[in-house]
Amino acid sequence: MDKQELLQRLNDDKIENLWVTYHDYNGRACAKTVPKSKFKSAVEDGVVFARANLNFGVDDHNAADGIWQAQTGDFLAVPDPAVYWKLPYYENTAIVFCNMMTEDRQPFDGCPRQILARTVSNFAERGITISAALEAEFSLFNKTDDSDYAPCPAGGMFTVAGLNQYADLLHEIVATLDSMGLQVEQLGKEYGPSQFEFTVRYDSPLQAADNYLISKEVTRALALQRGLIASYMPKPFTDLAGNGLHVHMALWDRDSGDNLMTGRGLENPLSEIGRHFMGGLMAHAPGICGLGAPTVNSYKRLQPASWAPAHIAWGVGNRGVLLRVPDVNQRCRVEYRAGDNACNPYFFLTALLAAGLDGVQQRMDPGEPFNDVDVGHFSEQQRLQHGIDYLPRTLPVALDALENDKVLMSALSPVIAQEFLKVKRLELDTYNLTVHPWERQMYLEAI
Ligand code: GLU
Ligand code: MG
Repeated sequence: MDKQELLQRLNDDKIENLWVTYHDYNGRACAKTVPKSKFKSAVEDGVVFARANLNFGVDDHNAADGIWQAQTGDFLAVPDPAVYWKLPYYENTAIVFCNMMTEDRQPFDGCPRQILARTVSNFAERGITISAALEAEFSLFNKTDDSDYAPCPAGGMFTVAGLNQYADLLHEIVATLDSMGLQVEQLGKEYGPSQFEFTVRYDSPLQAADNYLISKEVTRALALQRGLIASYMPKPFTDLAGNGLHVHMALWDRDSGDNLMTGRGLENPLSEIGRHFMGGLMAHAPGICGLGAPTVNSYKRLQPASWAPAHIAWGVGNRGVLLRVPDVNQRCRVEYRAGDNACNPYFFLTALLAAGLDGVQQRMDPGEPFNDVDVGHFSEQQRLQHGIDYLPRTLPVALDALENDKVLMSALSPVIAQEFLKVKRLELDTYNLTVHPWERQMYLEAI
């Protein structure tokens, strides 16, 4: 669709409210709703937002050292007609995702979508097409009278009993996504009370990120209509499973359509380029954490032997490693398991692909695979014997690793990279300065 076709489509779909949307550095969907009378100008010229919003944390505090402040003007969120959906659960309402432009209509160098598009084009130049699929876990909660959250009582991994509890909601989610043209592959009951997971069919990285982001909003909105919270928080409770965002990536020859990662069976599961791509992901894994697991809470999920990785290792068919090769045949691909839904997926995918490309360019070797062992159960001695490193164990370590990773920092562009770090370090400062309930329970009477 071009802009004219989008305007026609808005008319045909009888849209009265258009949500003009961008995603901030925390991955939050941010929008203004535009009335019909302004559709033409919104679609053609975009909608104005303050640049300062990009230096905001999730608590809406502006990083004091950010380059975008009250006085630094605006960017334009210009709709990309390819990323339009009618929202069937609101009357006459649609949403469109945007690219960010400067006020003089140039691409804005702080734009997350455009940075991912640029990274993907580095593969296209080499005749490589990438497919990506994002597998998101979320948990359902009831808000309690004391403003806390109680996990919904839908228990048991993959149980029909769990599906029974929320069948109406789950079916509505699937039907709604389907009616929006998003091909849900499955929506399953995951671990313990309240956790679910959906997967949407693979696509190009940019479309996969777009599709994931809209699916996330659909699940949240439909849950909310039933008075429930669909939360994507990485680790909502100490003793419940964390919510991961697993990313599957495959490389294809643009001309022949052949999978470029397929090796020669279990003995040699990856092709040469597949091995190098994997090597790049291994080498840059600490910095990738800064983008893929970007909250203090993320590191409470990444615990040894929890199915969410704490070590840097790869293997075939193994859910106990960071990088899993789920299929060694024609659909050979790699699944990165340390990310979570607190990310901005445009940044996260940029980091993953830039890391993989660096591996290919530098012919990096991923080392031995671990196919049959959960490395999270290794003793310290075994870990050292096998030369396995930990992923960052806390957010500050991950942010420092990102800052020290020249490949990732340059893939993000210096502007985004620095401003992202400022936003996240502000969040970290707030956390460090807050007295948490645990501290009172631990110390108040004991000391
Ligand atoms: N919940 C786990 C995580 O946080 C993943 C479980 C699974 O393999 O689906 O990554
Ligand atoms: Mg899962």
